[in-house]
Amino acid sequence: VNSDAAEILSNLLEGNKRFSTGHSTHYRYSPEEIARLGNGQKPKAAIVACIDGRVSPEIIFDQPLTNLFVSRVPGNVASDSAKWMLEIAVTDLHVPLVIVLGHTECLAIKQVIEGVQGSGGVLRSQVERSLAEARMKAAPDLFRECVCQNAIRTGEILMQESYAVRQAVDKGQLNLVAGLYDVHTGRVRILDTGPD
Ligand SMILES: [Zn+2]
Repeated sequence: VNSDAAEILSNLLEGNKRFSTGHSTHYRYSPEEIARLGNGQKPKAAIVACIDGRVSPEIIFDQPLTNLFVSRVPGNVASDSAKWMLEIAVTDLHVPLVIVLGHTECLAIKQVIEGVQGSGGVLRSQVERSLAEARMKAAPDLFRECVCQNAIRTGEILMQESYAVRQAVDKGQLNLVAGLYDVHTGRVRILDTGPD
């Protein structure tokens, strides 16, 4: 992990600790501050998260406006919009850290596990592959394992399919990690993504 990314990750996890212990900063913005933000932005990290109403990255990491670039999609999969967001964040704004954030009790993933048919197309098939991987691991909690595998898989796909991400990672300018948000505790845990 490069030093910029390590420091930012540590700041975000501190923010998550504030949030989960009832000590969130209650950010307020004066018209002057809003105008100042209008003059430019300097995001510190990019987050690929689920659309679930309990996982808003700015809130759970206790971050003010401008600090996060966010793409939200059911099951936090590697969507085209996530790739586009990362291209802007990484290439134009030189964000050094990407977090793919899965979460417990994810309805999108639960639907795939239960075999509920629906839309989602190729994005849904990513979750189906994560489910197959989770089944092979024979973890005691299939649902949770599937969420974790899916967050890790999203990171892998983004590495494979986003030239901007891969290039920045290869140059040591970007770190990509997967995390798990627990909707019952409010805590984020960084997942071990294995040898690569
Ligand atoms: Zn979800």
